[in-house]
Amino acid sequence: MSFISNFEKSNALFNKAKSIIPGGVNSPVRAFKAVGGNPLFINRAEGAYLIDEDGNRFVELINSWGPMILGHAYPPILEAITQAAQHSLSFGAPGKREVEMAELITSIVPSVEKVRMVNSGTEATMAAVRVARGFTGRNKIIKFEGCYHGHGDSFLIAAGSGVMTMGTPDSPGVPQGVANDTLTAKYNSIEEVRQLVANNKNQIAAIIIEPVVGNMGCVLPEQGFLENLRTLCTQEGIVFIFDEVMTGFRLSLGGAQELFGVYPDMTTFGKIIGGGMPVGAYGGKKEIMDCVAPAGPVYQAGTLSGNPVAMAAGIAMLTTLKQNPQIYAQLEETTQYLCKGMMQNIQSLGLDYTINQIGSMFTLFFTSNKVNDYETAKTCDTAMFGKYFQAMLKRGVYLAPSQFESMFISTAITKEIADFLILTNKEALQEII
Ligand SMILES: *Cc1c(COP(=O)(O)O)cnc(C)c1O
Repeated sequence: MSFISNFEKSNALFNKAKSIIPGGVNSPVRAFKAVGGNPLFINRAEGAYLIDEDGNRFVELINSWGPMILGHAYPPILEAITQAAQHSLSFGAPGKREVEMAELITSIVPSVEKVRMVNSGTEATMAAVRVARGFTGRNKIIKFEGCYHGHGDSFLIAAGSGVMTMGTPDSPGVPQGVANDTLTAKYNSIEEVRQLVANNKNQIAAIIIEPVVGNMGCVLPEQGFLENLRTLCTQEGIVFIFDEVMTGFRLSLGGAQELFGVYPDMTTFGKIIGGGMPVGAYGGKKEIMDCVAPAGPVYQAGTLSGNPVAMAAGIAMLTTLKQNPQIYAQLEETTQYLCKGMMQNIQSLGLDYTINQIGSMFTLFFTSNKVNDYETAKTCDTAMFGKYFQAMLKRGVYLAPSQFESMFISTAITKEIADFLILTNKEALQEII
């Protein structure tokens, strides 16, 4: 077998990019800092495959960090945006697709009674927290160590993957005053949250959480954790926010809240909701969302929000998922099959690494510890992960270039591709141990 080794065009592009784009990339997680080498420049993608500028083809498990749950270049989405684009790309005035989108979202996620479209997950979480603050008249929020909620100032505290990989737990440029209003608790520790709430009586506007974490690798909520948070928020008049930017429309049609049967007051969306276009949304209970301008006093706006082409993509995505609910069982089956195969490889090689999996999300952690929070995630051997990443890449498998990310399975991953992934996993592990 010959390994992929020609990255000439990607390297040339990266060298040029570095001189005119900070770090050569438009989002830090795309850089290969944590795994070594230069990032690949992608020319196109089809189904389960990425093709780079040198013509190398990779099975990929990033899915554009989540959105491509139906695989790349899914024809109905391409048709929908091509059609929408004929009628101009933006109006800055209401369009019927925005109503259709809101109807789809509220019908799929019943805890969302009213919804506002934005352009990214970051915008959604920033707006949701502002609305929660306006609604409660309180300033402080609680987030969890290792959870990522976009790059808004309030959230860049113990913020998971990107910053975790970079080794900068807090970002310069975030004022101390803003940071002071963000309290952090250990994921899966209801005790810490209760303590914070007791010490800040009537001051907490919102608790925001990834109901399943994707941003320190895939980490699951322990039995009762989300339920206990729900009860606490209700008792204390705290707005409970599920950040379902990653889990929404992925863990089930109705997201993590449907899967666990725990319902937040507000939900944020991104990624899948735009079918690959830059879309986010936030929504929740009517009485909360009616605080948003122009219905209420909390200001939030967007020139391109509800953009017709982006809405067309999102509608095609959500409609496909809604009409084909068996997709979720299929994704779960493929993912379990893959994880079981990889676990057999790990054990047969005498290793004791950990795999966390739920639905179509999973992470192979290079640690023998059970990973259920930020502390335990950090016990991973990241140097080993870096070697594994390279060993997979040269065999034609493109993983997220960090230990602290979730992998995503799309409907384009067939059983044959899963078998290839299992075999490649074995060869890569054999090479690096
Ligand atoms: C990706 C992500 C965000 C940020 O979304 P962007 O579209 O990148 O701004 C926020 N929250 C979670 C849970 C995410 O996974």
